[in-house]
Amino acid sequence: MSSVEPLVAPIELSFDYTRSLGSTLGSFMTALAHRRIVGTRGSDGRVLVPPAEYDPITAAPLTELVPVADAGEVVSWTWVADPLPGQPFDRPFAFALIRLDGADTPMLHALDVASPAELRTGLRVRARWAAVPSGSIHDIACFEPADRPRVEQPATETHPDVTMITTPVRLSIEHSASIEETVYLQALEQGRLVGQRCPVCRKVYIPPRSACPTDGVPPGELVELPDRGVVTTFCIVNVPFLGQRISPPYVAAYVLLDGADIPFLHLILGCEAGEVRMGLRVEAAWRPREEWGPTLQNIEYFRPTGEPDAPYETYREHL
Ligand SMILES: [Zn+2]
Repeated sequence: MSSVEPLVAPIELSFDYTRSLGSTLGSFMTALAHRRIVGTRGSDGRVLVPPAEYDPITAAPLTELVPVADAGEVVSWTWVADPLPGQPFDRPFAFALIRLDGADTPMLHALDVASPAELRTGLRVRARWAAVPSGSIHDIACFEPADRPRVEQPATETHPDVTMITTPVRLSIEHSASIEETVYLQALEQGRLVGQRCPVCRKVYIPPRSACPTDGVPPGELVELPDRGVVTTFCIVNVPFLGQRISPPYVAAYVLLDGADIPFLHLILGCEAGEVRMGLRVEAAWRPREEWGPTLQNIEYFRPTGEPDAPYETYREHL
């Protein structure tokens, strides 16, 4: 097995994180849409920008909004020589902590300068406002040195109060499968289900692990498993969500393949959601052969076989 070359694949995780802002941050974002910046006054009299919702000293809610200037000075900065996708610029720029006039705390934002040579602590800067407000932190396009001619933007319309924010979250990684996982995935590509047996406790794991979680030893022999088994536990999904590929209600269940000691999660289709039960005998519904790849998604779902239910005693140690 040591001659197996581990599979590697790019994986991109991304989702939009949508949340309500609450009154304090909602006021901050609404002010930005009108090209104004506000902070909150803390119990010690300091003006906190961006506004804190709760006092950093007493933890009491902060309610006094304080307008501050859209200009200030650089407190600290870092140079971004190789910007990543999604950052404010696609050319080198700085991220800076900027203390606005009237504020006691600095806020983080992008600073548009051509080189680090233009940067210093104490540099006077001001906000460059976005041409079209959106009610987000992006209404400040960036900060720029205050001695540059100001680019006048068209006047803004009245903007509705901002109550929600959507933040796209994206993470790109390169996943390297373990040797055991690679063997399992390559078998799937051939339509086979392969687990591994621990040489000590004799349990069969699918997908195989690099070590038995009970005994800590590397797995031993490969075990071919059938594509049928029993539903141990399940959940009926009734809640719609973004990116959902099947219309609810549908069933996600732990399926214990015959001969395996741990179940894996898969879909149960081919019957009414309400008919799925613990002990239900199921079999794999494979996708067409030409669609197979090194993935468990080759099995589109599991469906009832029509056999009598498995007695609870046969799977109670595998829940
Ligand atoms: Zn073991």
